[in-house]
Amino acid sequence: MRDRQRSSYRGRFAPSPTGDLHFGSLLAALGSWLCARRANGAWLVRIDDIDPPREVPGSAGSILRTLRVCGLEPDEPPWHQGTRAPAYEDALQRLRADGYAFPCRCSRSDLAANGGAHRGACVVPHDSGTAFARDPAWRVRVDDAVIVFEDGLQGLQRWPLAADGDFVVKRADGPFAYQLACAVDDAAQGITEVVRGADLLDSTPRQIFLMRLLGLREPAYLHLPVAVTAAGEKLSKSSGARAIDAHGPAPALRAALALLGIPAAALRQPSPRTLLRDALAAFEPAALPHARILAAPGFS
Ligand code: GLU
Repeated sequence: MRDRQRSSYRGRFAPSPTGDLHFGSLLAALGSWLCARRANGAWLVRIDDIDPPREVPGSAGSILRTLRVCGLEPDEPPWHQGTRAPAYEDALQRLRADGYAFPCRCSRSDLAANGGAHRGACVVPHDSGTAFARDPAWRVRVDDAVIVFEDGLQGLQRWPLAADGDFVVKRADGPFAYQLACAVDDAAQGITEVVRGADLLDSTPRQIFLMRLLGLREPAYLHLPVAVTAAGEKLSKSSGARAIDAHGPAPALRAALALLGIPAAALRQPSPRTLLRDALAAFEPAALPHARILAAPGFS
């Protein structure tokens, strides 16, 4: 697999270190790995540690170890967004200089009358000469932008950004927002296709918008169905999703590969590495399920 000449395809898996790797995130990791390997491209891992209060100590290391025992080895050393603040600050300053980013002190409750959305003008004035105890958040104005893109699995997407309003790129309590960090890093890492869960489909238009404002190269996007519990709840730490068993990941791998359209008969070998080799040989992007959600079999 490695001796063939690498293509220019670059994919990535970008987990947040908010807990151990669970079945839902394994699905995204495998989907992005299969697409990258099938294209004979590079597969990268980026730890999205931009939100310290939500982080669970030790989970970045545990996610990377579990990926390794699953046979999912990144081709380059993982990036950690916690080290990337200067790049996000630079992007914010460019957005500010170009008149797209503005400081904002409107809280959620201030915006309640607008259905929670910030539309153009701030409700709370920030230039009234009042001394504020806290820094403002920074938002990007969306005006009447409509983002249209073709998703590799979910088809043609058309998203008017005004529906959710001007969005936050830097929070008042300090951290840069996911949308900005993700847009900046996908471009900085030269990602050519983002393969991730459909729960992030509504983030993609904002990321594309930021890339266009910043003159960055846009990747293609493919949003995989999200694994849900039998009750229809997204698998997450809060839904109590179990961690993948790092001592015996093969059952979870088999189940996740089946959800990605790989016939069970193709998976003959028992060990994670050989399972992945068989899966890659049988993987057909056209066989990926188009649904937005799929019930996870026994891993919730
Ligand atoms: N860190 C995000 C999450 O775990 C995913 C980011 C992405 O793939 O863009 O939900």
